Amino acid sequence: MAGKITFTIIKPRAVSKGFAGPILNKISESGFKISALKMLQLTRKEAETFYEVHRERPFYNELVEFMISGPIVVGILEKENAVEAYRRLIGATDPAKAEEGTIRKLYAESVQANAVHGSDSDENAAIEAAFFFASSERF
Ligand code: ADP
Ligand code: MG
Repeated sequence: MAGKITFTIIKPRAVSKGFAGPILNKISESGFKISALKMLQLTRKEAETFYEVHRERPFYNELVEFMISGPIVVGILEKENAVEAYRRLIGATDPAKAEEGTIRKLYAESVQANAVHGSDSDENAAIEAAFFFASSERF
């Protein structure tokens, strides 16, 4: 059965450009309920752990540097079939390939600085949500 939650990060460049508000608005307008939300700056260790699956990829070190370069906004989003629905809303990893109207098309500047993260499976959504939020921070 498709899960009800996904996890998102609004990445540093999108936050510093003032896009957190517009992105959250787009998320709400698209029918997601925001059930947890906060701003924070990742430590290097946290960023390395979060992107552990990409450790062998050539862009790993740069990605970690980028993700710790400034504050991010993290959130848990609820909707039927949340993971797939949110991946559709954010668009392709490379914003040049993202469809019109998607968050990455609207707010990303490059493959690395692609505005947002979205979980890729129900299992990872649960792991990522628990990584950032205590149960007392989830509503
Ligand atoms: P997605 O975020 O769409 O799930 P991936 O999980 O493949 O994409 O990659 C994780 C993140 O790593 C991307 O969101 C992006 O910030 C960065 N990234 C992916 N591919 C590249 C690349 N070729 N060059 C630089 N950064 C990349
Ligand atoms: Mg991914």
